[in-house]
Amino acid sequence: MIDFRSDTVTKPTPEMREAMARAEVGDDVYGDDPTVNSLEAYAADRLGFEAALLTASGTQANLLAIMSHCGRGDEYLCGQAAHNYRYEGGGAAVLGSVQPQPIENEPDGSINLDKARAAIKADDFHFAMTRLLSLENTIGGKVLSLDYQRQARAFCDEHGLQLHLDGARVFNAAVACHCDITEITRHYHSVSVCLSKGLGAPVGSLLLGSEDVIQRARRLRKMVGGGMRQAGILAAAGKIALGQGPRRLQEDHDNAQSLTAGLAEIRQLEVDPASTQTNIVYARCRVGQATDLRDHLAEQGILITAGNPLRFVTHRDVNRQDVDRLLTAIRQFYQAKQAS
Ligand SMILES: *Cc1c(COP(=O)(O)O)cnc(C)c1O
Repeated sequence: MIDFRSDTVTKPTPEMREAMARAEVGDDVYGDDPTVNSLEAYAADRLGFEAALLTASGTQANLLAIMSHCGRGDEYLCGQAAHNYRYEGGGAAVLGSVQPQPIENEPDGSINLDKARAAIKADDFHFAMTRLLSLENTIGGKVLSLDYQRQARAFCDEHGLQLHLDGARVFNAAVACHCDITEITRHYHSVSVCLSKGLGAPVGSLLLGSEDVIQRARRLRKMVGGGMRQAGILAAAGKIALGQGPRRLQEDHDNAQSLTAGLAEIRQLEVDPASTQTNIVYARCRVGQATDLRDHLAEQGILITAGNPLRFVTHRDVNRQDVDRLLTAIRQFYQAKQAS
């Protein structure tokens, strides 16, 4: 199977499995797991924060961040398209009693700061109290500019808000900007990062922030059942993912570019080449049903996400030949359709 559905599908490398088998472990709820402690210290240093926390998932890291910054009856500003608004089961509202205030994202994925300013509630007992702005980078594969992120932080400082980044794919953003990761992360009070996407770990995310934020998050992680015992088994793979994963993301971006160029030549599909900035490629079907194309590809052993638009994600476990096989299979699908 060639799997273009997501960069979450990568399998741990032999090196990761070896490190997992050999990992020194302890009970992380007691703070005794040396491999988890080492990953958290390494991550905090690498991303320029005081402290880090290993979490079960990116969803959990975002939840802990929002709940660390906001209390019951507070609110956070986020994009209408934000993962932590749309795709996390409403966790901040359900578990944290924190109200989301979504704002329509601009075409580049940013949140217009004048719209954010207008959404901040006055200090009046009718209203929830606005505490936090949450951004996402990359968002739908698009990269927020460094300049925008600097402005967003100045905006938050001006209005007494905290600034969180859902950085599930923030290393893809750094690669696309040709900058060090800290040039992005320095603007935020907290950042979540997925180890289990393009970086290639089997399980796990990180939350980064000040000692204070991470201490609160650690308490909340226990509360939501995220305290894991000999988690060093996972942290061992996570450390390899964080150390080595970023180096090969450019290859995923290059493969996404060649896939975009190939798709753009298929007239039954509509592709905006400018929208491919990292490892995610979108296309719309001009004719026929996306689900028919998906089913045809599945018969050829190729998996894609048949949403509207179609989505293709490149990652470590697909290479240039796989991209070519995908393009060939799509062309065959439309040729057979035309012939019939
Ligand atoms: C995948 C993803 C998450 C959540 O990660 P899980 O580990 O799947 O819970 C959060 N935000 C963004 C932008 C993501 O792409």
